[in-house]
Amino acid sequence: MERKYPINKVRNIGIMAHIDAGKTTTTERMLYYSGKIYRIGEVDDGTATMDWMLQEQERGITITSAATTCEWNSHKINIIDTPGHVDFTAEVERALRVLDGAIGIFCGVAGVQPQSETVWRQAERYKVPRIAYINKLDRTGADFFNAVDSMVKKLAARPVITQIPYYTDDDEFAGIIDLVSEKLLLFSEEDGGSTISHEDIPESHKAISEEYRENMLEALADYVEEITEAFLDEKDIPEKDIIGALRKVTINQDLVPVFCGSSLKNKGVQPLLDAVVNYLPSPEDIGTVKGISPKNEQSIDFKLNDSESMSAYVFKIVTDPFVGKLLFARIYSGTIKRGSVVFDTNSHTKERITKILQIHANRREELEVAFSGDIVGLVGLKSAKTGHTLCLQNKKVSYENITFPEPVISMAIEAKSKKEQQKLDEALIKLEEEDPTFKKYIDPENGQTLISGMGELHLEIIIDRLQREFNVHANVGKPQVSYKETVTKATTGFAHIEYDFNGKSLFAAVSIEIAPNLDGEGTVFKNAIKSDSLEERFIDYIEEGAKDALLVGNIAGFPVIDVVLTLKSVDFREGESDETSFKMAATQAVEDALKKNDSILLEPVMKLDIICPEEYIGDVINDINMRGGKIEKIDKQKSYSVLNAVAPLDRLFGYATELRSCSQGRASYTMQFYTYDRIPESRATKIMARFRGELSYYEK
Ligand code: GDP
Repeated sequence: MERKYPINKVRNIGIMAHIDAGKTTTTERMLYYSGKIYRIGEVDDGTATMDWMLQEQERGITITSAATTCEWNSHKINIIDTPGHVDFTAEVERALRVLDGAIGIFCGVAGVQPQSETVWRQAERYKVPRIAYINKLDRTGADFFNAVDSMVKKLAARPVITQIPYYTDDDEFAGIIDLVSEKLLLFSEEDGGSTISHEDIPESHKAISEEYRENMLEALADYVEEITEAFLDEKDIPEKDIIGALRKVTINQDLVPVFCGSSLKNKGVQPLLDAVVNYLPSPEDIGTVKGISPKNEQSIDFKLNDSESMSAYVFKIVTDPFVGKLLFARIYSGTIKRGSVVFDTNSHTKERITKILQIHANRREELEVAFSGDIVGLVGLKSAKTGHTLCLQNKKVSYENITFPEPVISMAIEAKSKKEQQKLDEALIKLEEEDPTFKKYIDPENGQTLISGMGELHLEIIIDRLQREFNVHANVGKPQVSYKETVTKATTGFAHIEYDFNGKSLFAAVSIEIAPNLDGEGTVFKNAIKSDSLEERFIDYIEEGAKDALLVGNIAGFPVIDVVLTLKSVDFREGESDETSFKMAATQAVEDALKKNDSILLEPVMKLDIICPEEYIGDVINDINMRGGKIEKIDKQKSYSVLNAVAPLDRLFGYATELRSCSQGRASYTMQFYTYDRIPESRATKIMARFRGELSYYEK
């Protein structure tokens, strides 16, 4: 099987935007113009193709990161839909990991909004080259240049304007002046903007166009030598050289080319598709991806091409009505054939891929082979989860180094009728597989099922999906903050296991040290045993057993986080030591180490971005202080300020209502998990008492 698209003609892109900036509308139009869907779906009537989960349509937000493929100018563009709501930051991060480039969409009226800042910074961290698109320029109050300015002020970005909007005398947004080709682009009204005419720039706009073209060339001259020379010599620079220079500065992340349009009014979307092809990198431009060898934890590079050994990363799992469990994966290197067997590094299993699907906006195509650079749906892998790496057994690699944030909120859940309990359990397991930031567990104290996630909205959506997709009706309790525990010093625990099971004697002895993770967040397992007489898979079971012990801490039964577990010694007997005995011994050893430690209680602290009109700032600050929060920064804008604050989640219940009432509905905020922090002694004592006394918290 030959590749249909050479790898330099593949683009894996994401679209990042604040809610309502027009991500869905723009994606829709891209799919429409690239010819794969035949009707423009309007977000407002809830038929947009990307928003294929029912409740997303109702809420008007995009939660899933489904990937859709389209063709533009003989290039294959895979669009990975990154969610816009802060409760789903983990999904954004996962999506960013598999992208080679991204479009940041900003509203021409509001400019850069707080949530765009968060996503932009994440993209920066993952070094994703970006272009920007200022949308909604048809709206009253739209100001293209102001919006570009806000990219500099709020994102510290270095934008380079490559198009400017063209307004008629009566202020109607009528077209786009392209500074590269020096043409005015007009989009025909009759065929939904499909036909574009390239006109000369009208006399009235010549001066401003020349000014901004000069600025563009000057900016490029700072980074691209050929342009510098031509610019200084005042030579004409051919269009293809400018395109080449823009491509270079985008991929190197020196500058962010800016485009403009109104997706709703069908203006500007095709040039944006051209920009994706012209400026954003192909996997070939990226070259290699860094993985970790599970054998020795050394970093290894995999080339992003077909001849490299196969490796792929599962970034999304959905339960599909037709094929069941559907994994969205990026094939980083090599090729995968239908029917082939792959090795899952994380679950240590070999499984057969029964189907490979290419997901288009309105249809799915079955593939025989997926090539490097592709983003495809895979069917047949039972044990794979989000974040797992697939590879060949003779060249193992792991790409999982995203540490997913710990859930910060939990609530009790039970089926409305006994009959439905099993259905509920099964549904929760499926949802847990799809979403690593969602967890289901049994409260060891009272046997209640608890679900936990990244915020109230996150859990609300889960409950909604239970009803709609799984037809399970559940009673839920009040949301509770998820506390955690951690250790304050290094202690070592021991366990020695010796018993008979079905006439067979079993034995294992393990010692494990637990210590605070001073390098950062997350729990790390290290093997300090020098000899390699112990099989690798046994180490995996010891790790599993050790981590099991962290599920229930020893001061108030909360999960233990941010620790380093070090396996210091093992003792085993040939034929008597197996997976189970190692696992049990490891659990007991860590329990013992925890007993010897002085653990402390932690609580989730949230980061708030509050947008507030001047006159209410005083009240808003007072309220944050009363909630034990801290204002970190106040950024004054023209008519309002943006307050950055941190506050314990425990004190933030009902914050939305309070903020609305103290600002007559004019202030708004976004909230996301910031860190786990030590709870002051006095409150810790109270919390422990409260949890001891509270056995059931069902509302109904
Ligand atoms: P998302 O939340 O970023 O996916 O944004 P949507 O695409 O759902 O758009 C949010 C709202 O803005 C919808 O009501 C759209 O019709 C509207 N919208 C999107 N693009 C434009 C535009 O270019 N001009 C105007 N006036 N409205 C737009």
